[in-house]
Amino acid sequence: MKIETVAIIGLGLLGGSIGLAIAQRAPGIVTTGYDRDEAVRAAARERGLVGAVCESAAEAVAKADLVILCVPVGAMEAAARAIAEHLPQRAIISDVGSSKKSVIEALSAALPGRTIIPAHPVAGTEQSGPQAGFATLFAGRWCILTPPADADPAALEALSDFWTKLGARVELMDAEHHDLVLAVTSHIPHLIAFTIVGTASDLEDVTRSEVIKYSAGGFRDFTRIAASDPVMWRDVFLNNKGAVLEMLGRFTEDLTALQRAIRSGDGETLHELFSRTRAIRREVIDQGQDDEKPDFGREH
Ligand code: NAP
Repeated sequence: MKIETVAIIGLGLLGGSIGLAIAQRAPGIVTTGYDRDEAVRAAARERGLVGAVCESAAEAVAKADLVILCVPVGAMEAAARAIAEHLPQRAIISDVGSSKKSVIEALSAALPGRTIIPAHPVAGTEQSGPQAGFATLFAGRWCILTPPADADPAALEALSDFWTKLGARVELMDAEHHDLVLAVTSHIPHLIAFTIVGTASDLEDVTRSEVIKYSAGGFRDFTRIAASDPVMWRDVFLNNKGAVLEMLGRFTEDLTALQRAIRSGDGETLHELFSRTRAIRREVIDQGQDDEKPDFGREH
């Protein structure tokens, strides 16, 4: 099975980056794209995110070997329904959604009998929209595929090869496990950032201008994550509810234990935890998931 034509639905950060990565790393692949927002389509044309920006989803997918839905997870079903009648029989349908169980359910309901192999490239930034994408977004990053048990092996191999071509490292995972892993590595950290930034801006005895002025003390790094796209993140929490609530329960217990340690002056507990977390940062760097430079390489 050869992927020669790729249709991208949703031309924001992820869709745009896929288009640009194909142009750079697999220029033999023909790309088409569609976004429901006319201004996004115009920007996509101007930046050359895909070979042809189409005026309908139907037109974009008409000749596709692979269709990648790059819309918020809450919009997956609508996006899939819009293409259902227009897909070539051979097409593989995939996506980039941050939660996988709900996406499989949505796509299976909208596209019965089709070859569906969901995917999640674990790569992104806090920016969104057609100006945000760049060709190297996936280089060295993991792309998790969550094929259903009866997935066509040839289609799975073709999709794995596709992501490898874009520079990603491919891993297969059960959708439910994916949702649990990502709840703890991505969704809860975002929730904590949204909370702390919201809490700081609601304080009465510390002014908002003080919070911003002294933000380099740690707050600033949370604001990067908390600036992420509100629609995307609303949908992630609504669609990965079970795993997020489970992990949040664990997190709350650990937070309560820390609270107790601080109150009772238990320095040993604090020191032990902070030593473990420092070692985890080391592992993240050693595995090439972040840069070693202090303070994320900011100039001082
Ligand atoms: P984005 O920059 O906001 O782009 C999404 C685009 O899809 C928007 O232009 C949106 O238009 C459009 N859209 C929405 N519904 C549509 C539909 N039914 N048909 C056609 N276009 C539609 O979002 P993104 O950051 O690329 O995220 C896309 C997906 O990637 C999400 O599922 C997200 O969970 C996943 N993801 C994101 C990241 C990240 O860091 N951002 C990382 C990995 C995976 P409107 O603005 O009009 O709604």
